[in-house]
Amino acid sequence: MVVLNSIDNSFFSKDFVSQNQEVFLSVLKEKNIELYIKREDEIHPFVSGNKFRKLKYNIEEAKNQQKDTLLTFGGAFSNHIVATAVAGKLSAFKTIGVIRGDELGVDLNKTLSKNTTLKEAYKSGMQFKFVSRSDYRNKSEKNFIEELRKEFGDFYLVPEGGTNELAVKGCKEILTNKDEKFDYICSAIGTGGTIAGLIESAKDYQKIIGFPALKGDFLQDDIQQLVNRNDNWSLESDYHFGGYGKYNTELIRFINEFKTATSIPLDPIYTGKMLFGIIEKIKKNEFQKNSKILAIHTGGLQGIAGVNQRLKNKNQELINI
Ligand SMILES: *Cc1c(COP(=O)(O)O)cnc(C)c1O
Repeated sequence: MVVLNSIDNSFFSKDFVSQNQEVFLSVLKEKNIELYIKREDEIHPFVSGNKFRKLKYNIEEAKNQQKDTLLTFGGAFSNHIVATAVAGKLSAFKTIGVIRGDELGVDLNKTLSKNTTLKEAYKSGMQFKFVSRSDYRNKSEKNFIEELRKEFGDFYLVPEGGTNELAVKGCKEILTNKDEKFDYICSAIGTGGTIAGLIESAKDYQKIIGFPALKGDFLQDDIQQLVNRNDNWSLESDYHFGGYGKYNTELIRFINEFKTATSIPLDPIYTGKMLFGIIEKIKKNEFQKNSKILAIHTGGLQGIAGVNQRLKNKNQELINI
């Protein structure tokens, strides 16, 4: 058992093999499809799913470089921010989060009282720097990083979303030999690091399908930069529900129905959209008959509370947790 918020130097040396949970739904039976969910969300409540995989070798590298601080970037509800904060604490690093939205820094207590993601990160000792949306766009520029070094001293930089070569290396460990029976591997996509690891580690006969959680054609190129092969993957760009962080009643209702039917919780930013897309594609016969599909549950459940708060303010149906 991981004890939350105390140092656990063995956390990242543990070899997590998450279980594949079969899903039983009438549509699957009807179409003769087997669907399993890889429960990476069960790795840890805050360092969940792919964020554990993406941070693992970065934290190892930061230790090798004898850094004592991790600095990274994210939005106000970012799974990556809270994962870095908690993983940093578990691994005895100081953490700095550069957060999009300078208005959030005006009254920190008020921000924390309304935002469970930032509150959790703060509880794990993360120090915040709130920046305007236009400054945030410079996050990968040299001058901006220089300024941050002047302000905070030396740090190990983890890019936004945690995606870099070491993140891809960690995500190669998601699939194991017990996953060889699957014809399709599905994953939600933010920056593309997770799917890159899946693409690199899949068997030759397996097809990887990515479901972008955001709008934009740049992902195809971004992913190509991270991988050595292009013959085994494709993107399904019709299931972003209007863009990053956007959702509607149909999606919320789907997440609730899926939870009732399978007892598996989904988040509305990533995994809910992916599963919605998978079920739609099954209904449209877009998977071959008798296929076995493995969908990666990349975690992100900590984000539900924030979405529910916004739904409640609008008097809309909440996500059941
Ligand atoms: C961050 C995140 C993703 C996106 O991962 P990328 O490697 O950036 O594509 C997918 N699902 C969940 C739940 C996430 O938190």
